[in-house]
This record gives sequence, C-alpha cells and structure tokens, in this order.
Amino acid sequence: MPASDFDMNEIHWLMDMFNTVDVGLVVLDRNYRVCVWNGFMENHSGLLPSAVKDKDVFDLFPSIDEAWFKSKSEPVFVLKNRSFTIWEQQPYIFRFKNYRPITGKADYMYQNATFIPLTTVTGEVAHICVIIYDVTDEAMNKLELEKVNKTLEKMSRTDSLTKLANRGYWEQSLRTEFKRLQRSHGSSSLLMFDIDFFKRINDAYGHSGGDEAIRHISDLLQKTLRETDVAGRYGGEEFAVTLVDTDAEGAKVFAERLRSLIENSVIYYDDKEIKLTVSLGIACCDDNFEKYEQWIEAADIALYHSKENGRNVVTVYDPSMAH
Ligand code: GH3
Ligand code: MG
Ligand code: MG
Repeated sequence: MPASDFDMNEIHWLMDMFNTVDVGLVVLDRNYRVCVWNGFMENHSGLLPSAVKDKDVFDLFPSIDEAWFKSKSEPVFVLKNRSFTIWEQQPYIFRFKNYRPITGKADYMYQNATFIPLTTVTGEVAHICVIIYDVTDEAMNKLELEKVNKTLEKMSRTDSLTKLANRGYWEQSLRTEFKRLQRSHGSSSLLMFDIDFFKRINDAYGHSGGDEAIRHISDLLQKTLRETDVAGRYGGEEFAVTLVDTDAEGAKVFAERLRSLIENSVIYYDDKEIKLTVSLGIACCDDNFEKYEQWIEAADIALYHSKENGRNVVTVYDPSMAH
C-alpha cells in the first residue's frame, strides 16, 4: 500500500473512531464558537455538526453557566493547563435527555468533563477540546446511596410508633441545647409529661389500643410544636419536649394548651371512644445545673408533683420541691 493511501486510511479510521467513541468531543475556538462536534454530541443533542459549526456555544446551549464555563476554560487557553469538572459540582455542561433504560430515573445525562488545550505547531493555544463523559450510572448510584443513608439516619433517630425523636436522639439534642445555654445564658425550658392511668387503658383496650393512644398524643403534640422545639418519646408513655428560648411562663402557656387539647380530644379505637389526660412537669434551665441530667431530673420532679396533686395538671419546678 503506498504511504499516501495509508495516511488517507488512517484519517478515515480516525474519523470513524472520533464519531463512534462513547465520549463527547467538542472543539471550541477563542470566542467559544464550535469548530468540531463528534457523533456522541450529535446523537445526544440531535444537532448535526453543520448546524453547530461556527456557532457560539452559549447561544446553542443557553443552560450553560457562561461565567462558570469560562472560569474553567480561560486557564486552559492562557496557561495551557488542563481542567476538569465533575457532576457533583455541576450536574452537566450540555443538557442532554437521559434515554438509558436502566438509569431511566435520571431526567438528564450527568457529565464529567475534561478541558484540554489544543496547541498549534507554533505552540499557541487558539482552541480547546472539551471531552464529555456520561457518568449518569455512577451519579445515580451515588445519589441513591445518599438517599438510603439519609433514610437510615432518620430511622435511627426516630421512634417508629410515634415518629417523634427517639430517646437517644432527643437526649443528644437536649445536651446540645444545654451546652448552648451555658455559653449564652438564655432561657429554655424542658417539658416532660406522662399519660395518666395508662395501665388502665392497656387493660381496657389491649396493647394495640394503648399504642393508638400513644400515637394520638404524639400527633397532637406534633401539631402544637414550633419549628425549633424538639419532641421525643422519652419512655413507654412518657414524652419530653425541649422548648427553645422559652422561659417558665411561656412553657406553662404551651403546656396548659397541650394539656387541655389532650383532655378534650377523643381517640376512636375499635368502635370505642377513649379519653385520657396527661400530667406535665416543666423545668426552666438553671445556671446552677452542672449537667443536663439535672435539668431532666428537675422536670421529672415537677411531673411527679403533678401526679401527686391529682394528675391532669401542669407543675413548674421549684428548687424547694427537691427536698
Ligand atoms: P400514672 O398515672 O401514675 O402514670 O399511671 P400509669 O398507669 O400510667 O403508670 P405508668 O406511667 O407507670 O404506666 C406505664 C405503663 O405503660 C406500663 C406499660 O405497660 C405501659 N406501656 C409502656 N410502653 C408502652 C407501649 O409502647 N405501648 C403500650 N400499649 N403500653 C406501654
Ligand atoms: Mg403514666
Ligand atoms: Mg410512665
């Protein structure tokens, strides 16, 4: 084969490979006009090379963040360095629909990209090549995993019956709040409450009737809460609420409202109507507390007083109660 035939063949082969390879290849000039556009780009954009040739890439793809794209490209032109972009930073450069059957969940193709300088024989860089990699599978796997991890994390802090914070997570958040108060000396209150004569509910309606009652109380509590308050299931039928930036007076108003809401509500279970009440105890965080456990203890003492004083009442902790 004569040498010139071989060269021609080689160019054909290169062109075939260029158009078949499963990455996007785009050559841009100094003014961001498209010079070269391979088969991958054509197939995914639906635009023929003739339709994009010499067109401004930002006009062709208005969804490209021009400032960001230039911040990636300029160093390639000027410093002749390569640069890279990853999908975590920007999900895609060219918005292409995702047609893959397996990863059909993604609306568009996630892309990584490499920007390389194209040097002339005299060593100038008047063009760059942007190489586009389809990383939709990888991105979807990672996003799925993150979603599952988030769900697991949420499950590990949530009580399954009530969807309130479980005891471990609630205590952790109380500890955080306690530490914050030690620095800021603000006032936050702790409210603890316990269902009155709950054993009777279990006896009369069975354990699942009791569970329904616990769920009902939790729902009422959830509806009464503010965004910043953290409510937890402290024990079987005991609940705890950290009322952030709320003094004893404010906590009392909240507790009274909750008490009366519960007293006046009805639980429908198995064609029966269940009524119940709760006893509540409040402790405002005290500078004398050295550990957050003392704060819990104080609210618990106040709750005990409510039980002693006829139940269905609210008691605010006073240090004299401790003796
Ligand atoms: P008091 O007014 O003094 O609080 O009386 P009480 O009967 O409510 O007494 P106590 O608070 O000690 O009762 C707790 C009972 O709650 C004991 C247990 O059988 C029941 N219990 C604890 N956890 C659950 C639960 O998840 N579901 C149900 N159905 N019952 C539970
Ligand atoms: Mg009880
Ligand atoms: Mg109890």
